[in-house]
Amino acid sequence: MSNEMKALVKAKPEEGLWMERRPVPEIGPDDVLIRINKTGICGTDIHIWNWDEWAKRTVPVPLVTGHEFAGEIVELGRDVRDLKIGQRCSGEGHLIGHQSRQSRSGKFHLDPETRGIGVNEQGAFAEYLRLPAFNVVPLPDEIDDEIGAILDPLGNAVHTALSFDLIGEDVLITGAGPIGIMAAAVARHVGARHVVITDVNQARLDLAAEVTDVLPVNVATQDLKEVEGKLKMQQGFDVGMEMSGNQAALDQMVENMVMGGRIAMLGIPPGKSPVDWSRIVFKAITIKGVYGREIFETWYKMIAMLQNGLDIRKVITHRFKVDEFEDGFAAMKSGLSGKVVLDWR
Ligand code: NAD
Ligand code: ZN
Repeated sequence: MSNEMKALVKAKPEEGLWMERRPVPEIGPDDVLIRINKTGICGTDIHIWNWDEWAKRTVPVPLVTGHEFAGEIVELGRDVRDLKIGQRCSGEGHLIGHQSRQSRSGKFHLDPETRGIGVNEQGAFAEYLRLPAFNVVPLPDEIDDEIGAILDPLGNAVHTALSFDLIGEDVLITGAGPIGIMAAAVARHVGARHVVITDVNQARLDLAAEVTDVLPVNVATQDLKEVEGKLKMQQGFDVGMEMSGNQAALDQMVENMVMGGRIAMLGIPPGKSPVDWSRIVFKAITIKGVYGREIFETWYKMIAMLQNGLDIRKVITHRFKVDEFEDGFAAMKSGLSGKVVLDWR
């Protein structure tokens, strides 16, 4: 193995990403080295490409970007047991500490010291990735590398969707981005009654209906209340998943929930935004913020569901060789894509 690799690097504090030669990472005693096969482009990567205010505040330069990946273990640290060279894997990109109260009680996803690969630490858009063995998630044969490469965002969808009981419930998802669409597929898979997804982008709504059995509603042109009437819903939605990050979407969700409804909120509004709290109080609504994936319960659940018929493959709309990464980022930025997967082999 040469000790250099290709990597997609935030090399300068300005717009863009650059393909560069970088040293293959050296691993510590508790790490593994993963040869990357496929990676997914995330909205986060677009923020880093654009070098917006959040990226400037957060991302050190130079940084190998990327956190959605699948690959194969090619080297084991001295103290790593229970993993083998040749094991296909994905992995949790949140690197947690082990000192906090939350970590020590097993709530790893609530550790306040979490650092993200491809955001704070060297990432996965490279031929090789160093990862703590703890973070590795082995892939069963039924899950191929392109699905393996999107388990991170599927995990966001699964974590959000499984926040509240969905069996027989009417579910509203605001935002038909890749994560909203996958959440709709999960809600359907676990037995929700009606699953309605909203967006203002018709291409995304069309994609949602192709991926799963969901009722798409374009809130720019359609009235959500009318849709509820057609579905013979009496009071409103039982469970909401906010997956747009848009203030108007959250308002509309609150407006359309039942008394005592439950909202899981994954979407990240760009800054402070006004909320009509009195509506939330009078409707006795529960809101849960959702960050990342439960480590490792979400991984366990999503792999089990994928093995048992959950099918989200059609959410992948574009596949590129990594040397065409600019086309991949352009597809993401067009707002017309689902997931975009880059092939590193
Ligand atoms: P995305 O940007 O691809 O999709 C958001 C969608 O919301 C877009 O299709 C957009 O057209 C739509 N939208 C805009 N205004 C709307 C409105 N008024 N009503 C309904 N839909 C509207 O995002 P994604 O990659 O699918 O991620 C979903 C959200 O989750 C984003 O806000 C993202 O930042 C956030 N996110 C959070 C976490 C976390 O850990 N909390 C992790 C990943 C992503
Ligand atoms: Zn991501």
